[in-house]
Amino acid sequence: MRNKNSYSQWPDEKGYFGKFGGRYVAETLMPLIMEVEKEYNNIKKDSSFKKEFDYYLEKFVGRPSPLFFAERITEDLKGPKVYFKRDELNHTGAHKINNCIGQILLAKKMGKKRIIAETGAGQHGVATATVCALFNLPCIIYMGEKDIERQSPNVFRMKLLGAEIRSVTSGSKSLKDAMNEALRDWVTNVDNTFYIIGTVAGPHPYPSMVRDFQSVIGKEVRKQIQEAENKLPDLLVACIGGGSNAIGLFQEFLDDAEVKMLAVEAAGLGLESGKHAASLTGGKPGVLHGNKTYLLQSKTGQIEEAHSISAGLDYPGIGPEHSFLFEEKRVKYMSATDEEALEAFSYCCKLEGIIPALEPAHALAVLKKIAPDMNSEEIVVMNMCGRGDKDIYTVAKALDIDI
Ligand SMILES: *Cc1c(COP(=O)(O)O)cnc(C)c1O
Repeated sequence: MRNKNSYSQWPDEKGYFGKFGGRYVAETLMPLIMEVEKEYNNIKKDSSFKKEFDYYLEKFVGRPSPLFFAERITEDLKGPKVYFKRDELNHTGAHKINNCIGQILLAKKMGKKRIIAETGAGQHGVATATVCALFNLPCIIYMGEKDIERQSPNVFRMKLLGAEIRSVTSGSKSLKDAMNEALRDWVTNVDNTFYIIGTVAGPHPYPSMVRDFQSVIGKEVRKQIQEAENKLPDLLVACIGGGSNAIGLFQEFLDDAEVKMLAVEAAGLGLESGKHAASLTGGKPGVLHGNKTYLLQSKTGQIEEAHSISAGLDYPGIGPEHSFLFEEKRVKYMSATDEEALEAFSYCCKLEGIIPALEPAHALAVLKKIAPDMNSEEIVVMNMCGRGDKDIYTVAKALDIDI
């Protein structure tokens, strides 16, 4: 039975985190999802699966990623000691690969012969195409027509890796529509297909399954920070799109009441502008992609388009577990604008020699703001969940620099 004070034991048997999550899908999808759940529950207890997962994380992804003391930023902020969890050093440049390794191993165990995925910015598409090449499975990526235009380097990467890209022209022609199309494909190709979802969203068991695969981040941090400081961190900080890198860092510490947590949404052009991706701070509960969660929606309940300079945070929803942790006030949710993220991006380049992705630059922007109110005894771990190579054109354009 769930202990009332434990946040790490959710979801319940039906896939609910409090009143969020669940399984809001067409009847035709139900047997498929039940099968994924059953198989996932089996492999969770299987030590040979764990061994295989760990093997690929070490040899292919390059884990464990280091925990790095950001000395110059610490000095500059005159607040807490700041550490970066360096998930940007992973193969393919972000945390998304952790989850893709887990899911493709599950797909193989289930005997699936075909992989589908959705992608917005293309990061999850690249990670999925990568593991499909690794395991010799055909890969179909659904991507909004608009995103295909905006993200051509990632489209090219996916093609190099052997994936087929399917352009989605319905709705807003972006991530939300690509996810709908992928769900449709899944229903049509029930027998042979596995759907690799890229964040802690979708119908149960995806939110908890993706979280479990990403929780390697926090598990490593617990060990590494004990070695470095002989204590737990006082504050964990991460950016939030769907919420997988954040929950991957937090999960391990949810029941350590002394560890505070802060997640940073994208405020785009500002919360009051309406052009943002802050589902918690600027949205309300509804149903999207098979689960109940906070969403950006109009007065009449239409899903609104998200906006952020970082394509990876550009999702109108958020994983249901975050909606729960938000209402429980276990995690604090704040936001950073495009402009603040750009400023933090340059700051990190110059002070630490790390070009961050624009997504974690949002987390750093808020950390910079709150650090002066903390003391030098306190320890902060921020998830540097992606590297910025993919963002250099966006940054150049935003800062009006010719490259
Ligand atoms: C995709 C992505 C994100 C957002 O996804 P989460 O599920 O919220 O982690 C954040 N950072 C990077 C680098 C990404 O590629």
